[in-house]
Amino acid sequence: MEKTEVTIEAVREVGPDTVAVDLETPEEFDARPGQFVKLETEVEGEHVSRFYTLSSPDVEGGFEITIGIDPEGTLGPWIADDDREGETVTVEGPYGSAYYEDESELLILAGGPGVGPAVGIGERAVEDGGDVTVVYCDDEPVHEDRLEALREAGATVVVTDELADHVASYYDGQQVFVYGFGEFVTDALDALEGAGGDPDGAKVENFG
Ligand SMILES: Cc1cc2nc3c(=O)[nH]c(=O)nc-3n(C[C@H](O)[C@H](O)[C@H](O)COP(=O)(O)OP(=O)(O)OC[C@H]3O[C@@H](n4cnc5c(N)ncnc54)[C@H](O)[C@@H]3O)c2cc1C
Repeated sequence: MEKTEVTIEAVREVGPDTVAVDLETPEEFDARPGQFVKLETEVEGEHVSRFYTLSSPDVEGGFEITIGIDPEGTLGPWIADDDREGETVTVEGPYGSAYYEDESELLILAGGPGVGPAVGIGERAVEDGGDVTVVYCDDEPVHEDRLEALREAGATVVVTDELADHVASYYDGQQVFVYGFGEFVTDALDALEGAGGDPDGAKVENFG
C-alpha cells in the first residue's frame, strides 16, 4: 500500500513507558502479524518517519502497533504524551519477511517492545491450533493481560532475564521468531545456536 492517511483510533498504556496504538485499517491494506509499517508524521514542524511492527493478530476492523517510549526520542514521546486520538498519521507498507506464515510450531523470542509482534503472532497461531512458546525478556514487562490470556489459551509464556537457559529448555526444532533491538537479537541468535538451532533459519526483525 502506498502512503495513506489513517486515523489514530486509540492510544493505550500497556505497561511502563509503552503504549499500544490502534490505527484505522485503510482500504486495500492487508498484513500478517510480524510485518511492519512505516509511520510518518510531523513533530514540532519536522517530518519524522519510523517503522513499527503489527502487534494485533490481524488487521480486520483496525490494527495495532506497540511502541516502547524512549523519553529522549521523537515519535515515541509525541504519540504517547498528548491525546492523539482522532489525529491522522501516514502509513505505508506492510514490509518485512519475518512474519507468521501459518507455522504449526513456534518459538517466539521477544525483547522489550518485541513483545508486540510476539503477542500478535501468538494469538493468531493459538487461534489456528498452533503450538506456541514465547520467551520474553524485559525489566518491566508489558502486555501482561495478553500474555496471561495466551497462557490460558494453551501457550507456554515465560518472562525472564535468563534468555539462553530458556531457549535451551524450549527449543525443539520449532520455527523461531526473534523481535527486538540489536543487542537482544544478537543474544537471541547466540542462544539459539547454543541450543543446537540454526540462526539462519530464524525469522528475525531487528528494531535497530
Ligand atoms: C523494522 C523495524 C521495526 C520496528 N518495530 C518497532 C516496534 O514494533 N515497536 C517499537 O517500539 N519500535 C520499533 N522499531 C523502532 C522504531 O522504528 C523507532 O526507532 C523507535 O520507536 C524510536 O523512535 P523515536 O522517534 O521515538 O526516537 P528517536 O528520535 O529515533 O531517538 C531514539 C534514541 O536515539 C537518540 N538519538 C536520536 N538521534 C540521534 C543522533 N543523531 N545521535 C545520537 N543519538 C540520537 C535519542 O536521544 C534517543 O535516545 C522498529 C524499527 C525497525 C527498523
